[in-house]
Amino acid sequence: MRIVLLGPPGAGKGTQAKGISEYYNIPHISTGDLFRENISQGTKLGREAQAYMDRGELVPDSLVIAFVEDRVSKPDCKNGFLLDGFPRTIPQAEAFWTFCADRDEQLNDAVCLNVPDDLIIKRISGRRSCPKCGAVYNIYTNKPKVEGHCDYDGTALVQRSDDTEETVKTRLSVYEKETEPLIGFYKDKGILKEVDAAGPLEEVQRRIIDALK
Ligand code: ADP
Ligand code: AMP
Repeated sequence: MRIVLLGPPGAGKGTQAKGISEYYNIPHISTGDLFRENISQGTKLGREAQAYMDRGELVPDSLVIAFVEDRVSKPDCKNGFLLDGFPRTIPQAEAFWTFCADRDEQLNDAVCLNVPDDLIIKRISGRRSCPKCGAVYNIYTNKPKVEGHCDYDGTALVQRSDDTEETVKTRLSVYEKETEPLIGFYKDKGILKEVDAAGPLEEVQRRIIDALK
C-alpha cells in the first residue's frame, strides 16, 4: 500500500498515521518529523529548513522532494509507505507522481482528513508532543496518563515552537493556497478518499481503514 495523507495542520494526520501504518505494516513517513529530527541533530538540512518552519512557511520544494524520494527508496518501503505531510504543493505532487510511475509503483490512495476550522484551532492549541519519541497528545482530547509526561518514555512533553497563534494563521493560509489544490489533483487521478476527521480518534481510524478497503 502506498498512501498519502492529506489535510490541514492539526487535522490529526500524525495521530492517525501511527495506527494505519501499524495496521498495514508500512513505515509512517512524516516530513515534519523528519525536519524536526534534523533540526535537533543540527544537520545541514535541519539548518536550512528551520527558518521556514519557524515562520510557518513551506520548506522549498527542491529540498523536500529529493529528501522524500531518497527515503521511499529505502528497503523498508518495499511493500509501501504512508506519507504524512507530503506532498504539500502541486510541484511536489507532480514530481512524486512521476517518480512513482517511473518505478512502476503507483500511489494507491490519497486520504484527505476533513475537519472544520474551529476544531483545527482547538486541536493545535492543545497539542503537546514528546521531544524524544515524537508521540502526540492533546491537553483537552488526548491526555497522557501522567500529566505533562510521555506514556512511552516519561519525557516531559513540549508545545511545538510553530504552534503559536501567529504561525498557525500563516500555516492555515499556506495550506489553503498551496496544499488544498492537491485534493483536485488526486481526484483527477482517481485515488482521492475523503474522510470526516471530526470525532473520537478510534472512530476516525475506523473511517480511514474502511475508506482504504
Ligand atoms: P497533524 O499531524 O495533522 O498536524 P496531529 O496528529 O498532530 O495533526 O493532531 C493535532 C492535535 O489534535 C493533537 O494534539 C492530537 O492529539 C489531536 N487530535 C488528533 N485527532 C484527534 C481526534 N480525532 N479527536 C481529538 N483530538 C485529536
Ligand atoms: P508538520 O509537522 O507536517 O505540521 O510540518 C511542520 C512544518 O514542516 C511545516 O509548517 C513546513 O514548514 C515543513 N514541512 C513539512 N512537510 C513539508 C512539505 N512537504 N513541504 C514543505 N514544507 C514542509
